[in-house]
Amino acid sequence: HISDWGRQAAALASGQPQSTTHKKEESTTTEEWSPSSWQSKPVTQSVLYEDRDEVEKALKKLESLPPLVTPTEIARLRESLKEVALGNAFLLQGGDCAELFDYCSENPLDAKLKLLLQMSLVLIWGGNTKVVRIARIAGQFAKPRSSPTEVIDGVTVPSFRGDNINGFDPSERKPDPSRLVTSYFHSAATLNYIRAQLSSGFADLHHPIEWTLAHVQDSAQKAEYQAVVDRITDSIRFLQTINADASPSLNTIDLYTSHEGLLLEYEQSLTRLLRDPASSPSKPVKKWYNTSGHFLWIGDRTRQLDGAHVEYFRGIQNPIGIKVGPSMQPDELVRLLDIVDADKEPGRVTLITRYGAGKVKDLLPGHIQAVQKSGHIVVWQSDPMHGNTFTAPSSKVKTRSFTSIMSEIQQCLQIHKENNSRLGGVHLELTGDPVTECIGGSEGLEDEDLNLNYATYCDPRLNNNQALDVAFLISSWFRE
Ligand code: PEP
Ligand code: MN
Repeated sequence: HISDWGRQAAALASGQPQSTTHKKEESTTTEEWSPSSWQSKPVTQSVLYEDRDEVEKALKKLESLPPLVTPTEIARLRESLKEVALGNAFLLQGGDCAELFDYCSENPLDAKLKLLLQMSLVLIWGGNTKVVRIARIAGQFAKPRSSPTEVIDGVTVPSFRGDNINGFDPSERKPDPSRLVTSYFHSAATLNYIRAQLSSGFADLHHPIEWTLAHVQDSAQKAEYQAVVDRITDSIRFLQTINADASPSLNTIDLYTSHEGLLLEYEQSLTRLLRDPASSPSKPVKKWYNTSGHFLWIGDRTRQLDGAHVEYFRGIQNPIGIKVGPSMQPDELVRLLDIVDADKEPGRVTLITRYGAGKVKDLLPGHIQAVQKSGHIVVWQSDPMHGNTFTAPSSKVKTRSFTSIMSEIQQCLQIHKENNSRLGGVHLELTGDPVTECIGGSEGLEDEDLNLNYATYCDPRLNNNQALDVAFLISSWFRE
């Protein structure tokens, strides 16, 4: 039971048995939405803090801080995702499973930015299509967990739930309300650095990009990658020669931020009533925007139809994602879309399917057909990571195999085609750093290599080479 979940972890953290029962509130029947209307619904993965006063103080502070993103940016992304939904662009979304406060630092941010830029160039070239880029960054701090506790060195402690709730170190597992405000400032610093780099020519295609393909072991594959890089470089040079320089799109790129909207108290405090940029300043129409990030998604564990997360998400103007795992029923999916996309706006919702390579062909067709019949026009995105996790037999860490990841993407492409639909994008867990967390890829990582640089605090990520591999392979399938 959900409220038991938070209580159990909190009791454990405080070292006290919890005797009070959480008040079980009735679901509201009213259609009225407000930033706090979710509070009358059951909250899955709730956090129980010891000191409510400290939480209220933190939330009050958050409410007074300025928006991290603006309605104009959110509206622009909404337009871009409409293009994806209508088949005119491809969506690349990627970043860490759990972002840590410590990742807010120059080198890891540069590495991630460069990687997303390179991947998008490869996809643009292969798909001959625009690419919309969204990073899991500047706020991806809260993690849903399948168990409230874990055993470390024989001691049962609350699970790590992300840097905005508790710390990874076993001594810091008690939920700490001050982390809510710390989250905001790390998001702000990350976003500031991204904006500053992009406006200072980081993604300026007039400067040559350095592509390192030294890791690719198979010589035929290396030649193939090199050919793609050469074609991209040539194309850019050609544009410059014919003086397409005037186009601002050569100077910088759009990059949007995203995170799982898990911690609703945090999200509510950054939800603001602001002018819809489509309305005129003299006759402003105000709407509710979540200003903590451009795009938020609901996790597979928190997408209950009558739950708090769905209630919160239905009222915000941001484009939203919904993780769709194997337990989702086709009719349930349609009812969910009816709630969060009542106006049937193309691209309002991105369905992020994550079944696992062995299940996708049994489950995806039914979901596609149900949504087609419903009249909702969504972005179909494949998350090939979360259904393909297993424990490596030799190194005993959580991992994913590159082969299964690619297989799930390839099957999605195929199944969408067969069903008169279109795979609109991919959702990846990746890092720009040379970690060893997933098996396979062009550098041939094996189970035995995983402990060399296994650095994740949550799920295993593709490293920079493996992530580029994904882009090269998808790009080659587009070309076929
Ligand atoms: C995630 O994206 O890190 C995650 C927890 O995914 P899901 O909700 O699909 O399990
Ligand atoms: Mn994850």
